[in-house]
Amino acid sequence: MTAPSFGRFFLPGPTEVHPGVLAALTRPMIPHRGREMRQLLAGMAEPLKQLFRTQRRVLVGTCSATGFMEMAVRSGVRQRALSLVSGAFGERFAAIVAATGREVIRLNVAPGQTIEADMLHDALRRSEVDAVTMVHSETSTGALAPLEALAQVMRQHPDVLLLVDAVTSLAGSPVETDAWGLDFGFTGSQKALALPPGLALGVASERMLERAQTIPERGAYLDLVAFDEAAAEMQPTNTPAMSLYYALDAQLQRIAAEGGVEARWRRHDAMRQAVEQWVAGSGGALGFSYLPAEGRRSWTISCLKVPEGKKGRAIAQALGERGWTIGSGYGSLKESTIRIGHMGDHTVAGVQAVLAEVEAATR
Ligand SMILES: *Cc1c(COP(=O)(O)O)cnc(C)c1O
Repeated sequence: MTAPSFGRFFLPGPTEVHPGVLAALTRPMIPHRGREMRQLLAGMAEPLKQLFRTQRRVLVGTCSATGFMEMAVRSGVRQRALSLVSGAFGERFAAIVAATGREVIRLNVAPGQTIEADMLHDALRRSEVDAVTMVHSETSTGALAPLEALAQVMRQHPDVLLLVDAVTSLAGSPVETDAWGLDFGFTGSQKALALPPGLALGVASERMLERAQTIPERGAYLDLVAFDEAAAEMQPTNTPAMSLYYALDAQLQRIAAEGGVEARWRRHDAMRQAVEQWVAGSGGALGFSYLPAEGRRSWTISCLKVPEGKKGRAIAQALGERGWTIGSGYGSLKESTIRIGHMGDHTVAGVQAVLAEVEAATR
C-alpha cells in the first residue's frame, strides 16, 4: 500500500485529516485534572461556541457521535419520541429510543427524500410525544433536511424537545444552534470537523438541561447533567482522549485562520456546487444523477445514482485501484449509488479531481 498524498480520500466519514492536525496528536500527555488541561479546555471554549453558533457551553466527550445520540435520548426523552427517519442514521436514532426503553413513533420517508415542515406539523398533531429526533444531513442518502423550517414548527410545541444529529452538517453547512432553537445538537470529530474519530461534541438548551434533571435514569458515563457540570468547571468528566483534544485545538485554530465557520460553509457550498455542475455536464452525460432533489442536497456528501448498467461498489473499487477513495452506496442503495464525501479540509479543485477520476473509472 502506498500512502496517498492529501486530497484523495473522499469517504463520507471518516474524513481525511490534514497533516498539521495529525501532527498535534503526538504532543505529550498532561494530568487530566491539572492546570494545563483547564487551560486547554478554556482556550477551546470560545471557538467551539462560535462553531456551534451558541452562547451556551459546548460539551465534548470521548466517544463517537452515536454516544451523544444515546445521551440525547437518555437525557431528553421521558416516555415517547417522534423519530424522523429518512435513512440509516435517522433509523439509528429511532432504534436507540427503543433500545433505552422509550416508545418510538417513526415518521418515515423514502431514501433520498426529506421530512418537510407540514409533515412534522401533522405528525405532532396526531401523536403526543416529549421529543423529536432527527438527522440534519442524512449521510446514507446525501439529503439535507430543512432544519430551520422544522425547528420553526417546534415553536408551537414548547414541551417537545428537538434533538438534532448534525454530524455531517455542523462545520460544513449552516447550523444555528441558538437562533433556530435546537435543544440538543451534536456532531462527531471524524466528519465535517475533519479530525480523527473518537470525540463527540454537543450543545444542550436550558430546557434540555431542565428536562434531564427530571429523568432519574439517565445513565452514568453519558449523563448530560454531569457533562454540563464538568464543562462549567473547565473539567473533563473522565480521563479524556487527550490526543484528540490536541487535534481539536489545532483544528479550531485552522478554522479561525480560514476566516471562521462562515468561510468554511462557503467552501463547502462551493464543493457541493462543483458536483452539481459536473452532474449538469459531463457526469450527467455519462448517466449520473442525484438521489436527493435540488435544494435538499447535503453540502458535505453527494449521493449520486450511477448510470444504467453500472454498479456503485464496482465504481468505488475502480477508484480505489487508481489510488482514490469514495463511498459506495449505503445499505439498500449500495449498488445503485455512490457517495462522495467532500467535507472537512477538501477543496473545489480536489472535488473536481475526484470527479474526473469517477468519470475515467466509469467509461
Ligand atoms: C457518522 C454518523 C453518525 C455517527 O457515527 P459514529 O460512528 O458514532 O461517529 C451519526 N449520524 C450521522 C448522520 C453520521 O454521518
